Amino acid sequence: MSDPYYLCQRCGNCCRWPGDVRVTDEEVAAIAAHVGLDAPAFTERFTRLNANRTGLSLIDKPNGECIFLEGVNVCAIQSVKPHQCSGFPNQWRFPGWREKCEAVEVSRP
Ligand code: SF4
Ligand code: SF4
Repeated sequence: MSDPYYLCQRCGNCCRWPGDVRVTDEEVAAIAAHVGLDAPAFTERFTRLNANRTGLSLIDKPNGECIFLEGVNVCAIQSVKPHQCSGFPNQWRFPGWREKCEAVEVSRP
């Protein structure tokens, strides 16, 4: 029997819960280019030191949503979003994730 695969329902919850959305240097370069900035300008405007002070995370809006969440559930940087975003919940999960994520378990495609 194959591992379960979780199909995202685009509820947007993972773009709203508190915590770090970590970005690597490569991701900063790609997102910066996507929004028309160079990497230093993007870093200054859209990132902060993460909680562990080991790297950068995207900043939040005052209401706690990711700065790149548009409307209810649209990611403004969908094509270049960080691996942390694209990898959840199939490549990484956290304790209690099922209470917050609406992804549906399906047979692995
Ligand atoms: S980068 Fe996009 S997918 Fe990731 S948390 Fe922000 S809005 Fe959501
Ligand atoms: S919380 Fe789960 S279902 Fe909702 S957008 Fe994120 S991955 Fe998709």
